Amino acid sequence: MSIQDNLLNIRNNINDITSRHGRDPKDVTLIAVTKTVDTDDINKAINFGITDIGENKVQEIEAKYSKVETSVKWHMIGHLQSNKVKYMIEKVDLIHSLDRMSLAKEIQKRANEHNIIVDTLIQVNVAEEESKFGLRYDEVLDFIEKIIKFENIRIKGLMTIAPYTDEPEEVRFVFKQLRNLFDEISLKNYKNVDMKYLSMGMTNDYQIALEEGANMIRIGTGIFGKRIYKED
Ligand SMILES: *Cc1c(COP(=O)(O)O)cnc(C)c1O
Repeated sequence: MSIQDNLLNIRNNINDITSRHGRDPKDVTLIAVTKTVDTDDINKAINFGITDIGENKVQEIEAKYSKVETSVKWHMIGHLQSNKVKYMIEKVDLIHSLDRMSLAKEIQKRANEHNIIVDTLIQVNVAEEESKFGLRYDEVLDFIEKIIKFENIRIKGLMTIAPYTDEPEEVRFVFKQLRNLFDEISLKNYKNVDMKYLSMGMTNDYQIALEEGANMIRIGTGIFGKRIYKED
């Protein structure tokens, strides 16, 4: 299947699911995850209507940044080392992986230097997998209450990566829990917090995530095919 066919297929699924749930498909942001994908294919996807792309490595953002159509929004979806923040802070539109105080402090410092406000999502490790980054569910409120005083950081929502499974129905509870937390935080009306995005769902499980209220889905393989990892 071509990139164009894949995108059509995903868009049809988004339309079906949102209409079944009385939602507007336009409220769902489809992020094309472009890690390992070359810039020709990225630009192809942009020509087929992709407005948002996601990368998980700062080096890849730097390498591709000037070769990709300038209209696109960049999402940092991977684990972010504090010492890399300075290289990407002005390039990225949304950081999905804010998961610790040391990183928040570094983002605050660099954002303040550039006199910008940085939009972030809090990454939550709902299923408490050892191999994954993110705050535990029960740490999130405390964390938010500590970083709302950071003037240059805006919290825009939550992100999670569900455990990989052949049977995506098994991870529905992950999406349900994150949705509940999202609603709980929204009701608190914190300053500097604007609960707008619920980033959950990948190729394997995005349809379940959408049913549970995701409004940002991150799809790589389902658009570009299987990833080929090259040696660095
Ligand atoms: C790679 C990646 C994705 C996309 O995964 P696919 O299964 O290829 O759709 C989504 N989110 C994050 C954080 C990723 O690292």
